[in-house]
Amino acid sequence: MLLMFAQIWKELTATILSLILTFGTTIGTIVPATTGGSADYFDGNVKNVIYLIGDGMGFNHLEKAKKERSISLVMDTFEERGASMTRSYTSSVTDSAAGGTALSTGERTFNGGIGVYFSDSNAVFSYPKNITELCLERGMMTGVITSDETSGATPASFSAHESDRGNTEEITEDQLNSGINLIWGTSNGLVTEHDAKVKGYQLITTYDEMMALPEGSSSFGQFTNNLWTLQQSDASTPTLEQMTMKAIDLLDDTDEGFFLMVEGAHIDKHSHSNLDDNMTEAVEAFDKAIQYALEYAKNDGETLVIVTADHETGAIVLNDDGSYSFTSGSHSGVDVPLLVYGTDKLLRGDEVINNYEVPIRIAYTLGFTEDQFPYEVMVAA
Ligand SMILES: [Zn+2]
Repeated sequence: MLLMFAQIWKELTATILSLILTFGTTIGTIVPATTGGSADYFDGNVKNVIYLIGDGMGFNHLEKAKKERSISLVMDTFEERGASMTRSYTSSVTDSAAGGTALSTGERTFNGGIGVYFSDSNAVFSYPKNITELCLERGMMTGVITSDETSGATPASFSAHESDRGNTEEITEDQLNSGINLIWGTSNGLVTEHDAKVKGYQLITTYDEMMALPEGSSSFGQFTNNLWTLQQSDASTPTLEQMTMKAIDLLDDTDEGFFLMVEGAHIDKHSHSNLDDNMTEAVEAFDKAIQYALEYAKNDGETLVIVTADHETGAIVLNDDGSYSFTSGSHSGVDVPLLVYGTDKLLRGDEVINNYEVPIRIAYTLGFTEDQFPYEVMVAA
């Protein structure tokens, strides 16, 4: 039944999404799904959000990286520490689409779904609003940046609504129509300078173009070399840390505050391949981006920094000799880290919460309420 519904949805999705974009109406809230009311989480000191997602990053990824690279991680310095349970609506082991959707919309969905979900209501079609859209409506500046392709499942979950993560063209179209100020990652080869310009974006493809962006500008980043490495891949390619620094600089421009999602995508990719050195380098590079975000937040005093993962990849285990090794090339269902800086309202001790509660609690921390998020956007057919 679910599969049939997914299939029908997939076939109709192009038409439906254009209808959504044209005639979309917001009609109601989804049943709030976290412990306590929104007022319990509200923190009047928090204006900005930097939401960092290490794709595939489990607790043992951090231990393996520290041990094998002989480094310490900024992630270990967060005082507010919990964990997130990552399952999807349809499976105890999620993919990055359903994981990203839970972390962006406050709703679990089927594996492969990007910002869409099954609806039990009588409405014809609906989708859950994502937290980027929620922040955009408040007038906040917004950014979605990744070491992956911009149309990858995690950035797409924060900037698109599509029934299949493989609908790359449709995801890109949604992103160009999103109004999000910064969308940066590696190129999928689909966005031309003209495409970007007619939607209000400056197309950037190099480090120098990124660094030259003026405040208040909107840009679509399509870099062509690796963004995940600790040092720049080449002079025209930024690191995730450099992207994070510039993004914060550009977004920190209004009284309404900003929302920035940063994905370290290659912790997952190198875990699928069981590439120890590349995976641990990707963890360290992601940690550098977190370090900058944390330093900014400590100076700023009005910024929530939250670090988590969509799922664990590689089923890393601790061996008897103290080493850590991959035991799989797939995702696992174990809980993942949930680290918070900037408020003591979001977590209660070392809580283990559902992944979909993370964006709900972020929204509540910012002062949004149950009737605003999670929110069902419905299309009258
Ligand atoms: Zn993966």
